[in-house]
Amino acid sequence: MSDFSSLMKQANYIGGKWVGADSGKTLDVTNPATGEVIGTVPDCGAAETDRAIAAAAEAFATYSRTDLSFRVDLLHKLVQALLDNQEPLARLLTAEQGKPLAEARGEIAIGAAYVRWFAEEIRRAKGEIVPSPTSDRRLLVTRHPVGVVGAITPWNFPSSMLARKLGPALAAGCTMVIKPAEATPFSGLAWAKLAEDVGFPPGVINVVTGSPAAIGGAIMASPDVRKVTFTGSTRVGKLLIRQSADTVKKVSMELGGNAPFLVFDDADLEAAVQGAMISKFRNMGQTCVCTNRFYIQSGIHDAFVERLKEAVGELKLGEGTRQGVTQGPLINEAAVQKVESFIADATKKGGTIVKGGGRSDLGGTFFEPTIITGANGSMNFTREEIFGPLAAIYRFGEEKEAIEAANATAYGLAAYAYTRDVGRIFRLNEELEYGLIGINSGLITTVEAPFGGLKESGLGNEGGSQGLEDYLELKYVCMAGI
Ligand code: NAD
Repeated sequence: MSDFSSLMKQANYIGGKWVGADSGKTLDVTNPATGEVIGTVPDCGAAETDRAIAAAAEAFATYSRTDLSFRVDLLHKLVQALLDNQEPLARLLTAEQGKPLAEARGEIAIGAAYVRWFAEEIRRAKGEIVPSPTSDRRLLVTRHPVGVVGAITPWNFPSSMLARKLGPALAAGCTMVIKPAEATPFSGLAWAKLAEDVGFPPGVINVVTGSPAAIGGAIMASPDVRKVTFTGSTRVGKLLIRQSADTVKKVSMELGGNAPFLVFDDADLEAAVQGAMISKFRNMGQTCVCTNRFYIQSGIHDAFVERLKEAVGELKLGEGTRQGVTQGPLINEAAVQKVESFIADATKKGGTIVKGGGRSDLGGTFFEPTIITGANGSMNFTREEIFGPLAAIYRFGEEKEAIEAANATAYGLAAYAYTRDVGRIFRLNEELEYGLIGINSGLITTVEAPFGGLKESGLGNEGGSQGLEDYLELKYVCMAGI
């Protein structure tokens, strides 16, 4: 079954009902590969969001007290529903986001894996009995769901980024108000449809689409929302952190990156090129952990560039549903113009385009995978996230120089390094100021490990046992007079 029409809900889900905007207005959702409108979603604002929060708060009173086994069973049913619908969900994702179908299928599978992981992990969310300083007391530390969670998600992984929030929140006993990105709302709404189908009670999950500032503003202002989990740009993340102050919400922030990719002379060249391709060109360079800056040691530099050029030459652009396509379009025209401006800036400052360099003949927002050599610290992409298929290559001499350059950014999400030297691997682990470090691998995300950034790349972690912590709060109870 590949028809996604039954999963493409053109309505919002509030308090267990599928509804439109109060104004009746809608927003178009387009396929970035064709420019065609694939459907519409309600253009909601603060009033609808307030109703969603009220529904979530009401549902929290009962859902948070349900049997653990009830929630775990529902989550396993949700996993099964996702896997049963993997193909139509992947096609829906490709239709609104543009990524190749193989990547979309992978995203649905990893989303299901996150939910399964948290359904397992909640069963081990133990409290503590702490030794008391006096014999007449018993000290307990217990864990409780934080309350209503606001979840705001981006367009680049509209399904799996929600899975990393929804899995732990629902496992812990929280209820949710979800705001998907404007460009890709259908993948988020599909989660609500499947959750409804498998029997999650009304109000546990609510999804609102429309004006980001109005919906976000209502979520942030409400004292009933006790936690906000956000994945998106550092700019919006900082705004939400400021807005969280008035009601002292817990916040989890998965923000932008500026990943360095270090290749040392002793690296396995083929492995490094393979890792470079996946970390740079997956999802057309539109991932938060995408390599932004390649630092290549002098001895291996020219060979690396030659092999990377060959590998980039094998990439195939096109509509994500076509056989063999590895690169979809960029999400919109603004994204294309951003990549163009990085290229213009870099060539003005001495960079050389050795592959690609412009818009593709396919038109629209398709862009040629591009390599620029001779990159230097004055170029804009040294500091800013590219979020497109542009590989910037810097040459370095000594290890210390590469580490200093790698750390010279406000971001601290992912870093990669290729080397066979065990001592160096430990130095990199200690010195690279990044939350995720890939040694001899360009793809390291997995449900079992924590995913989170340092510095301005974020707060908190998603995945791993740590990914549940943010949805549980501690209470200490002291029993005296025993
Ligand atoms: P974005 O910040 O523009 O949008 C993210 C979400 O925030 C969207 O749902 C958007 O509608 C919403 N939003 C925008 N303005 C808002 C406001 N005033 N109040 C409330 N919500 C608002 O980011 P994007 O362009 O969708 O996504 C790309 C960014 O996300 C990149 O910077 C990327 O690195 C980052 N990202 C980070 C991770 C991570 O795990 N660290 C993962 C994926 C993407």
